[in-house]
Amino acid sequence: MKLIAVYPGTFDPITNGHLDIANRASLMFTRLIVGIAASEKKNPLFPLEKRVAMAEEVLAHLPNVEVKPFRGLLVNNMQQWDSTVIVRGLRAISDFEYEVQLAEVNKQLDARLETIFIAASNKYTFLSSSIVRDIAGNAGDVSDFVQPCVSNAFAERFS
Ligand code: ADP
Repeated sequence: MKLIAVYPGTFDPITNGHLDIANRASLMFTRLIVGIAASEKKNPLFPLEKRVAMAEEVLAHLPNVEVKPFRGLLVNNMQQWDSTVIVRGLRAISDFEYEVQLAEVNKQLDARLETIFIAASNKYTFLSSSIVRDIAGNAGDVSDFVQPCVSNAFAERFS
């Protein structure tokens, strides 16, 4: 059976925590689509094209992982991608309420959709794109938290 899963998010930018989840999910499914949401309302630091380019570079070594941008509701894109499985990462109890709400809404919109939660690895439970943006924005070193192409993108963005 061919199982296609989608790991959606804003990825502003992709961190080592995202990479860990994508890596682990890629072992569970035939194909994993990392869906990068335009998320205009969140006013992302990096434009969509840049977020996609960074994710492509960071995930290039995973042969069954593909990066795709999307706009609008995830459910509409799930149909287009021929997938009914959504992968999300769970870091802490603080993630739980929002993530369960999101999973329930997606199921209301399309009853075929199932959301699978993957627990964050211990060393990444504290890590979020927003924390990394804060550190980089204040001239801090983010090289322990993101891959080199993302560090470079921050250096360019804040130069
Ligand atoms: P969104 O705007 O949809 O929350 P994010 O890019 O912030 O997008 O996160 C995408 C997914 O990755 C979410 O399920 C989030 O919980 C998960 N995630 C983010 N950081 C980590 C991490 N350090 N470890 C595990 N999962 C993470």
